[in-house]
Amino acid sequence: MSPTLAQVNFRKKSIHMSKVQVFDSMTEFLSFRQTFSPDVEIGFVPTMGALHQGHVSLLNRSIDENDFTVLSIFVNPTQFNDPTDFTKYPKTWDADMVLATAAGVNAIIAPTYNQLYPDNYRYKIIEGEFSKKLCGAERIGHFDGVLTVVMKLLQIVRPHKAYFGEKDYQQFKLIHDMVQSFFMPIQVVPCPTLREASGLAMSSRNTRLSAEGLKKAALIYQFISEEKTTVQAAQKLTDHGFQVEYLQDEGDRRFVAAFLEGVRLIDNVTIK
Ligand code: AMP
Repeated sequence: MSPTLAQVNFRKKSIHMSKVQVFDSMTEFLSFRQTFSPDVEIGFVPTMGALHQGHVSLLNRSIDENDFTVLSIFVNPTQFNDPTDFTKYPKTWDADMVLATAAGVNAIIAPTYNQLYPDNYRYKIIEGEFSKKLCGAERIGHFDGVLTVVMKLLQIVRPHKAYFGEKDYQQFKLIHDMVQSFFMPIQVVPCPTLREASGLAMSSRNTRLSAEGLKKAALIYQFISEEKTTVQAAQKLTDHGFQVEYLQDEGDRRFVAAFLEGVRLIDNVTIK
């Protein structure tokens, strides 16, 4: 008989040899999760797929720091306030499998809406302050959707550590504080923003830009880093054809959301 998962040594080297297990049934994943002995450290990286090197950096960190890494791929409809943005969100399942397997992920969960939302979104996690600013000011209900889906995923995976990119710093901070507020025994780990050589923050949405747009989009990082004030940075972006949704300093960071070629791009930097 093959050993149970609790008996398997999940230490890094052996994991890299093993094949990734894909779960589209959450019932099956929950049964699988129950077989883990408590001393197996689980790392979790939630994503919406269309994986790039930014995601891979989170996966690598998790693989490095844990015995078993779970990746989730779910394009969460409740966090999109714009239905077109949701339908146009890139889906690259086969390429995602290649990247995740090469990185050494152990399990992938890819639930359906009905599996994650048996309540059809009657129950929500709502934060009343920071979630209403920046990305939450224009995208009404965006962070309700984010926090709710992350809460559900954390309950399913029950990781020791969960990894989030600083590219979505507001999201990281809201999730970090949610986990603390609800006494969840999970370490929420921030990971630095991975950038193209041009400085452009890697993003699944970049694939929707033209070659020219891709070059121009690097100006976002340049201007928010170089300009002294938010007004100057916003003006420069506008002059170059961006529609700026917001450009604001908040705490020790400068945050921006701007549209280029109809694609919404976000970034943030620490203020020097
Ligand atoms: P997404 O699939 O866009 O929802 O992103 C999944 C996770 O990857 C989130 O925690 C993001 O903050 C993180 N992420 C996305 N892009 C980057 C990047 N360029 N660098 C680091 N982390 C990223």
